[in-house]
Amino acid sequence: MSRPELLFPLFADLETLEGVGPKSAKALAALGVEKPKDLLLLLPHSGIDRARKPSVRDVVPPTTVTVEVVVGAHFPPRSKGRPYRVMVQDSALEFQLVFFHARGDYLQNLLPTGQKRLVSGRVEVFDGIAQMVHPDHVLRVEDAAELPEFEPVYPLTAGVTQKLVAKAAAGAMARMPDLPEWVDAGQKAKAGWPDWADAIRAAHKPQSNADFAETTPARQRLAYDEFFAHQLTLSLARASLRRGTGRESRGTGALQRMVLAALPYQLTAAQTRAVAEISADMAAPSRMNRLLQGDVGSGKTLVAFMALLVAVEAGGQGVMMAPTEILARQHLAGLVDLAALAGVRLELLTGRDKGAERGRKLADLAEGRIQILVGTHAVFQKDVVFQDLRLAIVDEQHRFGVAQRMELGAKGQSADVLVMTATPIPRSLALASYGDMDVSVLDEKPPGRKPVQTALVSTTRMDEVVEKLRHAVGEGRQAYWVCPLVEDSEVLDYASAEARFQHLRAALGEGVVALVHGQMPASEKDAAMAGFVAGQSKVLVATTVIEVGVNVPNASIMVIERAETFGLAQLHQLRGRVGRGSAHSTCLLMYQAPLSEGGERRLKVLRDTEDGFRIAEEDLAMRGAGDLIGTAQSGLPRFRVADMERQTALMAVAQSDARKLLHDDPGLTSDRGKAVRNLLWLLDQDRAIRLISVG
Ligand code: ADP
Ligand code: MG
Repeated sequence: MSRPELLFPLFADLETLEGVGPKSAKALAALGVEKPKDLLLLLPHSGIDRARKPSVRDVVPPTTVTVEVVVGAHFPPRSKGRPYRVMVQDSALEFQLVFFHARGDYLQNLLPTGQKRLVSGRVEVFDGIAQMVHPDHVLRVEDAAELPEFEPVYPLTAGVTQKLVAKAAAGAMARMPDLPEWVDAGQKAKAGWPDWADAIRAAHKPQSNADFAETTPARQRLAYDEFFAHQLTLSLARASLRRGTGRESRGTGALQRMVLAALPYQLTAAQTRAVAEISADMAAPSRMNRLLQGDVGSGKTLVAFMALLVAVEAGGQGVMMAPTEILARQHLAGLVDLAALAGVRLELLTGRDKGAERGRKLADLAEGRIQILVGTHAVFQKDVVFQDLRLAIVDEQHRFGVAQRMELGAKGQSADVLVMTATPIPRSLALASYGDMDVSVLDEKPPGRKPVQTALVSTTRMDEVVEKLRHAVGEGRQAYWVCPLVEDSEVLDYASAEARFQHLRAALGEGVVALVHGQMPASEKDAAMAGFVAGQSKVLVATTVIEVGVNVPNASIMVIERAETFGLAQLHQLRGRVGRGSAHSTCLLMYQAPLSEGGERRLKVLRDTEDGFRIAEEDLAMRGAGDLIGTAQSGLPRFRVADMERQTALMAVAQSDARKLLHDDPGLTSDRGKAVRNLLWLLDQDRAIRLISVG
């Protein structure tokens, strides 16, 4: 689908704009400006009052002032390093313009004695004399209109001046074509938004500081455009996944009933609801693309297993991918008995499966003898072929972006897709990064969970902590001891864990303490984990490899060393490893004094709440969205005007509008649909354009 001709002038080379040469074009690229259209959304962030004053006498220096003057005598510097001075007279006062390192001929030309000029700049009093050092503007009186009474200030980068950006932006605005409206008419009227071009012009021509507020109609409309374009992309991705390629997988409920009857507990209401939502999606002919979001310990694994059983009941197969080997093994351990009970064969496949053994598993999969496969990313290797894959589940993959999810969908051909994440995502982020998915939320924990008591302890009290640990171990309790990542180096990381392991083993005794870290050979890692799960070892010293998902209900103590070096979400995940059994649980956050302000705030938030959503909101407030999910792989959009943290409600409107539009007009062929295509082009959503349904 080619770009509409109407937009060509805005997609021309920057150098076609007056005043922009090859050098400045290159410099502008650093501001994300590559085409004239990009200048439209490079908005000023503040402004300077340039209202004309009759005289410098009317203001209280130091301050910026704009006055008309008659140029008087020039005083070139008497010696090197001294300034060049020009006397000027406004309506009431004589003062000086001061220039350092200026060329005399240039100043003679700029400020000819006896002529009138409009000057604007910062006035200061020096030795009792008012002076303006390096005026920002010197204009002929007949050109005075070039300087607005409120001058916009643009973001700059090396090699780019205010003047250049202002001029280039004006040039780009002059090229704005008359475009049909893409915003829903009702929405536009209700919000009182201007047309797109008027909004752009208004945002570039603020009248006062109030015009920089995100709530002004112009800026709000432009923010909405960005949200809307982004949500259209997500919705198009969602639609293209669902379109035609789905399967109807209708469970009989027989296997689920067998498993549920054997469980020592009942599903929570939230689990039941999630299972129902997933089953309904699977039974529908369109393809499922759903996110299952639930705080640590909310019981996502069981929901996933119920969904896998639907696939089996429908006569097909299901696969669940975990991010780490440890987790994959844990899924196997937790589910294999339940599966057997239902007469279902569940197997593990990881990168460690090699040779004949692997060959046998692949054959059993291809011929349908294995019904449920759990594993690492190895389950998506090319030669892994299913007889009839109906459901693909990705566990703990909050680091996945839209693009990767689309890839995953392609691999499973027509299989339904369920993504699970333990990271509670604030609503704004969920909308921005998972807007292409439907969402089920486990907002309730299994009953009987006791709160985890969390305390902050300085590392200076290490001996006390070890003493307490000895006591707890004596009572048959188990503990995790998490060592920090030192300076981001795996080797040092390993060294600190190793040292702590030696220390604790010396204090608590041989055989009581086990070690697991990322650098260990896989078989040793498994052995260490298995020993801890079986209760042979009592204290597991670990690096953050245990962060995601590990489930050992008997473990009731979590010690985190140098807790201040971890992020909030990470700490919450780690703490979520305890508080899963019937015993009272404790989490000790050990810190090295003095704590930074941010560090202290993070640890206190954690001490005061266990609510993952509250923690995530705090995290977002403290860090900003990019960071929260890991900037590079986050799949998060970058907005130029919109602020997804503060304009969540607006994004929600954009999402429902985008979904409704695509529902009514999937090919974007209506008048509004065609208008929307212009928006997608203008906001670089080309990928979306490729996804538009053809037919
Ligand atoms: P997560 O959502 O963090 O993946 P898990 O699926 O690991 O949580 O479940 C945590 C623990 O809660 C497991 O030991 C699991 O057996 C248990 N569990 C799951 N659902 C229930 C329930 N409805 N009632 C009681 N315990 C449950
Ligand atoms: Mg889990």
